Amino acid sequence: MSILSFLNRNNYEGYVVFSTLIEGKFALGGWVHQRQTIKEISRGYRPGHIDNHTLRARIAGGLIDRFEISRLDSKRIHSRVGLDTQELNKKTVCVIGCGSIGSKVAFNLIREGIDKLILIDDEVLLLENIGRHLCGISNLNKLKVDAVREKIIDHYPDADIICIATTFNQAYNKNSEIINNSDLIISCTADIALERTLNNIFHTSAEFPSVLYTWTEPFGIACHSVMIVQRTKGCYECCLNPTDLHFNREAVISGPEEYIRNEAGCQTSFVPYSSLDVEQASLLATRLSLKWLLGEINHNIGMTYIGDISKAKTLNIKLSESYTKDTAFSYITFDIKKRDNCKVCGVESSDT
Ligand SMILES: [Zn+2]
Repeated sequence: MSILSFLNRNNYEGYVVFSTLIEGKFALGGWVHQRQTIKEISRGYRPGHIDNHTLRARIAGGLIDRFEISRLDSKRIHSRVGLDTQELNKKTVCVIGCGSIGSKVAFNLIREGIDKLILIDDEVLLLENIGRHLCGISNLNKLKVDAVREKIIDHYPDADIICIATTFNQAYNKNSEIINNSDLIISCTADIALERTLNNIFHTSAEFPSVLYTWTEPFGIACHSVMIVQRTKGCYECCLNPTDLHFNREAVISGPEEYIRNEAGCQTSFVPYSSLDVEQASLLATRLSLKWLLGEINHNIGMTYIGDISKAKTLNIKLSESYTKDTAFSYITFDIKKRDNCKVCGVESSDT
């Protein structure tokens, strides 16, 4: 009765939710409360003399609608994941680039228990994007960050997603604090100029988070994720060939720029690879990210997924000698060492 008095005293009408312990576990319940006075409930009885049976019958007999309650919070939704989601849902990840790979990395991170994302991308979702993207025709012409957020919230309503629809440089100039406070930055842009910018900021600012770079090679011949950890030896530039700036473990020797295509009648260019190749790249990036976020990595490390390299001849692709047919559909993990002649970190004394 005291709850009823409280609700009525405050003129409350609406949903009332409560939890109670049953056999050591919390159970939820609730009702739709319509304002009613004790006088109305007790009609025909002198004040304080209504018996409990009549009281319950009058309260439950029409003025209370019972309903079931289901929890939608992240902890409940991810209760079957198996990973330490309590640890993961304290983390914030900043995803730069919400294209085909970035959109799926973002979705995968939330799916695995990350609660908070910062999405940075200034582009709009176009028709030519949707074949490989997380979002489809219903999100056409929306900003990619908003489209990805909508798609994630539609599935995981508890997700906390900040959208920044600018370039990374604009975002960092304006929002450096929230980016610096991320636990991890993931670059899904495959934009070497931007990635070198990220690496320069990473190297010069101790506040900048650790960075994971991910991309796929033409036709999905291989995809890579490189995790560069703050306060360790080496940097992203150490993985690049100093003469042509290609990744030094690329499977396709000639580099992706030779395979860039233009769609007929379309202003945009693209590197050919399939939606399945995007899935592989996003899974690889997500797995490596989770390892870092769960504290299982403490040094610079890379992972490569080798796709169907048996198709290289048919596709007229020249492969690096380190990739042979018998390694198709396999994973490689490798450490990333500091390169002495690295223009970013190699010029310092050898103990830095
Ligand atoms: Zn370096």
